Amino acid sequence: MSVGTKAVGAARRVEQRIARYAWYRPHFTCPFCGYSGPFASDIALTGRRPNAQCPQCWCSERHRTQAQVMDRLAERHDFSTLSILHLSPEQFLADRFRKEFGTYTSANYDPRPDIDMQIDLTSCDEIPDDSFDVVFASHVFEHIPDDKAAARNVQRILKPSGFAVLPVPIVCRSTVEFPRVVETEYGHVRGPGPDYFDRFRDLFEIELFTSEDLDDANQVWVYENRTRYPTKWAPYRTPSAGKRHMDMVPVLTPRS
Ligand SMILES: [Zn+2]
Repeated sequence: MSVGTKAVGAARRVEQRIARYAWYRPHFTCPFCGYSGPFASDIALTGRRPNAQCPQCWCSERHRTQAQVMDRLAERHDFSTLSILHLSPEQFLADRFRKEFGTYTSANYDPRPDIDMQIDLTSCDEIPDDSFDVVFASHVFEHIPDDKAAARNVQRILKPSGFAVLPVPIVCRSTVEFPRVVETEYGHVRGPGPDYFDRFRDLFEIELFTSEDLDDANQVWVYENRTRYPTKWAPYRTPSAGKRHMDMVPVLTPRS
């Protein structure tokens, strides 16, 4: 038997095993591509997250929670009349926002060929006050040392009737400020906890949507073994019990 034939045989056995165990694994549906079935694990330096990704379009937990929250907000607002600033845009939601909103502007801290503006949210005087109805920045604030300055700018560039959606990864029991940038955590400067958004309550009214408020058919929880923290790769995270953790999507309305 040739090496190639052996490899094909091994690959087929792996496929058969996956198919057999698929019946025992939880099934979910993907709101982006319509896939239905078991979801795949995401394997990162910080640990493995079972049920994290749709195996067809590779959306993650955060994309699905945020999509559901935007569905809820679309019931309250006519997005077609609103302008949105989408920071650090991810394709899953960028495609949707471009179609839904009256005006779509993308922005990023680092230069990217596919964005409209390059901005530093902590010093973006080039954007006039009251410029946008909506600011959407997913998993951005955990990268910004002076997050209060960034939040003040979000409030400034939002119209008084507008709102911001600023979710961060909730990875600690309560927020931990890292003493340095942790590259193995994608360059994060803090490990947010559920309390993270409290620091912006002087600037915004805050409505929190959690996994408990959302439809689990789309798999809106974060499955992760957090008893093992801190680790070499996540040196400042704090441990927590349980195998399934809540995600959070905050909707911030400027205080007048
Ligand atoms: Zn999908």
